[in-house]
Amino acid sequence: MSISKVGVIGAGTMGNGIAQACAVVGVPVVMIDINDAALQRGLATVGGSLDRLVKKDKLSAAARQAALDLISVGTDYALLADCQLVIEAATENEALKFDILKKLDTQLAPEVLLASNTSSISITRLAAVTQRADRFIGMHFFNPVPMMALVEVIRGLQTSDATHKAVVALAERLGKTPVSVKNAPGFVVNRILVPMINEALFVLGEGLSSAEDIDAAMKLGCNHPIGPLALADMIGLDVCLAVMEVYLREYGDSKYRPAPLLREMVAAGRLGRKSGRGVYSY
Ligand code: NAD
Repeated sequence: MSISKVGVIGAGTMGNGIAQACAVVGVPVVMIDINDAALQRGLATVGGSLDRLVKKDKLSAAARQAALDLISVGTDYALLADCQLVIEAATENEALKFDILKKLDTQLAPEVLLASNTSSISITRLAAVTQRADRFIGMHFFNPVPMMALVEVIRGLQTSDATHKAVVALAERLGKTPVSVKNAPGFVVNRILVPMINEALFVLGEGLSSAEDIDAAMKLGCNHPIGPLALADMIGLDVCLAVMEVYLREYGDSKYRPAPLLREMVAAGRLGRKSGRGVYSY
């Protein structure tokens, strides 16, 4: 099973990044969204990102144009007819993803593989809404996709070895490092990262150290490029709280209880950078 053309559903942050990652290595890609404005925004983002690579001498002007020429866009799923893999990267909403996947499942040839870039929805459950659960898999890219080397390849309970192998091979062709994971909330990276951030908010809330010192300690003591509290502000404290609540519910283990300070800050509207104030003020 070899993948020579890829479809991407969603032209947002992740969708246009995935399209760019395919196109720069010579894999033709079709990007689908709900309207032309979203598609044009996605294409403009790819154009801007490729321009920056040209300015930094990391890409030639000819290679930039060749990559753009490999990206086609539209709103009609019929454009996906000759893709061997379609990656769903639409808004994180379970009902919306169910609808998209059912529609793809009925319109695509039975041998076409389906993947989802979801951060939090069960791959096993998404696979189960299709008639091709063995040809369904998670491909969890990281933001910004063109810069980030990791792809978590998530096997649902039903995913076949052939599907896994084909998607791992594609991830490698994109220049990424695939890490195989069994389906479970948070996969690997977020399962470890978000509880670490939560723990930093426990430490801050207990008054053990100042925010600046907690971040300095983790940067200097663990060689992390950014401290956990600054990272919490970047991700959004509301997002961190929602993730912890999912872990607490799904794993049923009190070790995932959200830090009281995290709840307090979200209740106060201190959501991080996006609201101008979180752990730090912006
Ligand atoms: P986004 O809001 O930037 O983009 C979502 C896009 O989906 C929008 O352009 C929207 O118009 C489109 N869309 C909505 N309904 C659609 C439909 N029916 N058909 C086609 N397109 C539709 O969101 P994003 O940040 O790119 O996230 C996309 C997915 O990637 C989510 O599942 C998210 O959990 C996951 N993810 C996000 C990140 C991140 O850091 N942003 C990282 C990893 C994974």
